[in-house]
Amino acid sequence: MLTVGVDAGGVEKLLRTGLLSCPACSAAVRPWGFARPRWLRSADGPVRVRPRRSRCSGCGATHVLLPLVALLRRADVAAVIGTALVLKATGRGHRRIAEGLGRAAGTVRGWLRRFAVRAEALRRVFTALAVSVHAGAAPIEPAGSDFADAVAAVGAAVAAIGRRWPALLTMSVWEIACAVTNGGLLSPDDPPQWINTSRLWASA
Ligand SMILES: [Zn+2]
Repeated sequence: MLTVGVDAGGVEKLLRTGLLSCPACSAAVRPWGFARPRWLRSADGPVRVRPRRSRCSGCGATHVLLPLVALLRRADVAAVIGTALVLKATGRGHRRIAEGLGRAAGTVRGWLRRFAVRAEALRRVFTALAVSVHAGAAPIEPAGSDFADAVAAVGAAVAAIGRRWPALLTMSVWEIACAVTNGGLLSPDDPPQWINTSRLWASA
């Protein structure tokens, strides 16, 4: 699964120009039909996404190009889940967060637990990313818990990315966080996988 931008026209352009690369062999991927449409829940109601399917020109593997709004196997867009993570980092409990977002308490608790389990690994990945993107970035201050430290590291990495690639500032913090972990911010993989999105960024 490759994570690509929300903008369907942009995805087509990237595909047609061979700017998207295969995670397995790095050859260019080409259009190859569409995957089943999915509905995701945004803060403003349902959004329909129709993921593009692609085929690698090198190894022949097919990939679903997952829109950036979607985290793998989650029904909500990245921005909604990210809001819950930020609120939790400020000390709010999952029931109040769920109430504010209009989501089931159990759903929100699931996101928070998954992130908490991976907090230290995510903190390391995003801290390293922040430094690799902007070597002179100010050190990230301890935020009081592993969970809050990880959220702070995501913020620092995205700030660094935004300074280097201002075009990406049209994306939300959590869309970018979603992109650099290839949609797997809350996935069970450990350590978190991330893709080399330099081709995407170069073309952004
Ligand atoms: Zn390939």
